Amino acid sequence: MIFTDTHTHLYSEEFDFDRNEMMQKAISKGVTRFFVPAIDSTCTNAMYELEKNYPENVFLMMGLHPCYVKEHYLDELNHIETELSKRKFIAIGEIGIDLYWDKTTLEIQKIAFKYQIQLAKKYKLPIVIHCRESFDEIFEVLESEKSDDLFGIFHCFTGNFEQAQQAISYNMKLGIGGVVTFKNGKIDQFLHQIDIKHIVLETDSPYLAPVPYRGKRNESSYVTLVAEKLATIYGVSVEEIAKITTQNSKAIFGF
Ligand SMILES: [Zn+2]
Repeated sequence: MIFTDTHTHLYSEEFDFDRNEMMQKAISKGVTRFFVPAIDSTCTNAMYELEKNYPENVFLMMGLHPCYVKEHYLDELNHIETELSKRKFIAIGEIGIDLYWDKTTLEIQKIAFKYQIQLAKKYKLPIVIHCRESFDEIFEVLESEKSDDLFGIFHCFTGNFEQAQQAISYNMKLGIGGVVTFKNGKIDQFLHQIDIKHIVLETDSPYLAPVPYRGKRNESSYVTLVAEKLATIYGVSVEEIAKITTQNSKAIFGF
């Protein structure tokens, strides 16, 4: 059984003391494909180091996280362009709009999001979207940028049924993680109405650990708990969930 964690911040300093053990644990449970989103330029070197240590398992994205779109964001976007021109990445992410932490930067968040979507088109890469309290704003940008060559993942999807359908209409898969196991997570109520071909698994570790680890550090091996919950929701085996969601991740990332 092969599981794919489509969103994991393995370079986070939360793992500095036991990164190898944590990754071996995940690999021993069949979680062998790790897709790693960027935050900003300060994590680039740590990401390269990680890739060097796990060249067969770790695949890197490049992008500027919306919470890090601040006064120096143009320098950050320059950094992204430089790195993209130098080597291969598997996606532009994570990018998007976050109005939970800071509403005052909405305008530059939109500019950075659009700009990075255009980079994704230029390099024929998928995008990985971060959306927090910003569905309307994200959909507005996607509407203005939509095309056959725009596709990707709505990471940590926590919207309602209508928003799920809308995201899918823009060629996005839904990244489902620990929230699906939460009592008040809500998405478990309607996911059975969404065709499983639109679903990929993720942890977003070290954040958003699934039950029974809610509130603790998350790690990639816990993606199996997300798969177990989805198996219940869809009424299929965990093996089936692993197989289909890994296939779905291949449809996005190309391998
Ligand atoms: Zn993330």
